[in-house]
Amino acid sequence: MRIGAIEAGGTKFVCGIGSESGIIEDRISFPTMHPERVMEQVIEYFTDKKVEAIGIGTFGPIDIDPHSETYGCVTTTPKPGWSGFPFLETLKREFHVPFGWDTDVNAAAYGEAKWGAAQGLDSCVYFTIGTGIGVGVYSEGRLVHGLVHPEGGHLLPRRHPDDRFAGHCPFHGDCLEGLAAGPAIEARWGVKGNELGADHPAWAMEAYYLGQAVTSAILMLSPKMVIMGGGVMQQKQLLPMIRAEVRRNLNGYLNAAALQIGMDNYIVAPGLGDNAGLSGSLALGLAALERSTYSV
Ligand code: ADP
Ligand code: ZN
Repeated sequence: MRIGAIEAGGTKFVCGIGSESGIIEDRISFPTMHPERVMEQVIEYFTDKKVEAIGIGTFGPIDIDPHSETYGCVTTTPKPGWSGFPFLETLKREFHVPFGWDTDVNAAAYGEAKWGAAQGLDSCVYFTIGTGIGVGVYSEGRLVHGLVHPEGGHLLPRRHPDDRFAGHCPFHGDCLEGLAAGPAIEARWGVKGNELGADHPAWAMEAYYLGQAVTSAILMLSPKMVIMGGGVMQQKQLLPMIRAEVRRNLNGYLNAAALQIGMDNYIVAPGLGDNAGLSGSLALGLAALERSTYSV
């Protein structure tokens, strides 16, 4: 079985081919330029690949309501040309196969539940901390959607008492993304995150914000695992600091073994590593194929 996967990021696009085992057999990547140019490259890649379905996990926010006129579009983005561009429709015109369509972080949560760290669990929350902050939610065996889809990157945290930075989100200023995504770290401290030493105070502040977000996710959604990926999480000292913040925030309130003795196995790095996004898109494609096969 050959399934196509597209991980559409704000910085780069990754296209790949995989099978029902979750193994990625081939991939290419290119920068996220103007959508027409990107679509040409995506179409060229999948032409002759004979895929049976294609899964797309994309930056957002996106329209996931099939009855809406803008279904299959990215709705609100400063990226030139992308707002309202018929992303899904353009590909559907070329390839007459079932399509999966969801956010990059919902895709990653799904991939992690199917083949990664949360394999065998019926719930998990996936955070990415990169150029933006995204949150994907898998609950009771399915991805969570609603009014739109989860947008936990824009939660409003309590500010760190030493933080004088105004915040970097064009919509909300000091929301979580505005205070804790990679560009916020760079704007606050004047250098990129990867140039700050592991013992720099930036990381205690970062853990303070991310710890609040994870605590909120636990209290709101009660996931059986929290997975944290993205460029900023390459700072390996962060994960234990976030666990400590979550423990401090919860203060013994929740009576679950995972939160007391097993925190190291509860708030974790992606089991699929850098493949979480693309594997997740593959899983979306596979699910679309299964739906089309069984719902006749
Ligand atoms: P994107 O979110 O664009 O898909 P990434 O997840 O790689 O891509 O995130 C990029 C962000 O992560 C940038 O803001 C970058 O400065 C930050 N970043 C990348 N590597 C590191 C690192 N080792 N330490 C801290 N921050 C990093
Ligand atoms: Zn925001």
